[in-house]
Amino acid sequence: MCVGMPLDNKQLQDLRRIAGRDNVRDSIEERLLHAYDGTREERLPDAVVRGVSTEQIAAIMRWANETRISIYPRGAATGLSGGSVPAEGGIALALAGMNRIVEIDPGNLTAVTEPGVVNADLSRAASGYGLFFPPDPASMTVATIGGNVAENAGGLRGAKYGVTRDWILALEVVLPTGDVIQTGARTMKNVVGYDIMHLLVGSEGTLGIFTKITARLHPIPPARRTLLAFCRTARDAAQAAKEIIAAKIVPAVLEYMDRVTMIAIENYTKTAFPSEAEAALLIEVDGPEQTVADEARRIEELLTRQSVISTEVAGSEEAAERLWDARRAAAPALTTIAPLRISEDVCVPRADLPEMCEYIPVLRGEFGIEIAAFGHVGDGNLHVNMLIDPHDQPQADRAHAAIEKLFDKAIALGGTISGEHGIGTQKAWYVERQLGPVQVELMKSIKRAFDPNNVLNPHKMFLWRPE
Ligand SMILES: Cc1cc2nc3c(=O)[nH]c(=O)nc-3n(C[C@H](O)[C@H](O)[C@H](O)COP(=O)(O)OP(=O)(O)OC[C@H]3O[C@@H](n4cnc5c(N)ncnc54)[C@H](O)[C@@H]3O)c2cc1C
Repeated sequence: MCVGMPLDNKQLQDLRRIAGRDNVRDSIEERLLHAYDGTREERLPDAVVRGVSTEQIAAIMRWANETRISIYPRGAATGLSGGSVPAEGGIALALAGMNRIVEIDPGNLTAVTEPGVVNADLSRAASGYGLFFPPDPASMTVATIGGNVAENAGGLRGAKYGVTRDWILALEVVLPTGDVIQTGARTMKNVVGYDIMHLLVGSEGTLGIFTKITARLHPIPPARRTLLAFCRTARDAAQAAKEIIAAKIVPAVLEYMDRVTMIAIENYTKTAFPSEAEAALLIEVDGPEQTVADEARRIEELLTRQSVISTEVAGSEEAAERLWDARRAAAPALTTIAPLRISEDVCVPRADLPEMCEYIPVLRGEFGIEIAAFGHVGDGNLHVNMLIDPHDQPQADRAHAAIEKLFDKAIALGGTISGEHGIGTQKAWYVERQLGPVQVELMKSIKRAFDPNNVLNPHKMFLWRPE
């Protein structure tokens, strides 16, 4: 692990005066706790600040902007692109403690939260009003709303309900200069000026720090039906997913798991899947009872025509939850297979999914590494996991080469190198190949306009330093 130079005494004193003595920690234990995210990339911050208010964050940013000290916002650090890792030391700004649900407004179907509210806690609180917050990353019991907004997180229900950006109305933001802005509005429509609010969603903590978030909520659908279908080949499963979409059914959930993922889940959760199944689809439809019953029946018929091995239909809420638990176990189960799981999340046009799914065994064969694929195929988003030992350098190099080919394939299919995990430090090397130099320069000029001294989350998204 790289160890940055600690702040000098005067800087620490200044920081303690601005942020409050007890909110600034610089013990090695505290710094270690804030050196990581979900990628296992590591870099020690020089100090950690937590438990502060919007006003204190604004004062910290003004000071950091003047002294050129880097600030790294972080929520629950479940990010999968290195977004909250303090890439060059500096200060880790831990926002998980700002976790108040300020308001749930059932009349307007909106909620106002602080950034550290855990995603599932918002839906739990809203459920008392018959409402929920639809973006549901598989990390929803841990990840924060602030982190979801910064990454524009997607989730399992993305096929029907979209991503975080679709559910955010307004933000309170501390800019890198220390100015505080209110952007967006509580209204359903708003077309005044450039859409800075939506630019900030997905900005990966590089343009501003969200201190208050106004989100839309959705009524909880009255009924749902959950199915798990086992398929003979990866192509069969991807083709079945394609047929469901082409039949104009919009399932709330349409999730794919390949054989490697299924075996990992079996071992991890002690469930048994048919041994001849090479892939599985988790499907859920929701809405009014009659619509749900009709759609579930049409999906079953369609799956039969696609010659699936078997389909399990959950007959109760408990049975549905068991099917969901299996899917949610995919990521932790895969981490037990190899010391390192590199989780990529290419996204392709949905009709091209069969070709993308068939490409995974090709990569496995060409590079001789274990690869598991699962993901949100309802919106074309496939999580391709390289399972490697990072201390085996030749294997790590082969994994990197496989990732490059995976990205090339996604782009060739008209897709993208990230559907939801973001760029952070992990994919910055490829960004220009997807976007081209003109767009990258435009993005860098946006970063310069927000953060002229590059003090907020530097070394992220693209490789840029101020002149
Ligand atoms: C098991 C597992 C499953 C996952 N499943 C999904 C999934 O289905 N879909 C998906 O999209 N992602 C998924 N992820 C990735 C991750 O959970 C999401 O990106 C999530 O939104 C990150 O939230 P966080 O609170 O952990 O943010 P962090 O990891 O702490 O930070 C992520 C980024 O947000 C910035 N940030 C955090 N808070 C703020 C703030 N208040 N203001 C400004 N910037 C901020 C950070 O600087 C960083 O760049 C998964 C991760 C794991 C480990």
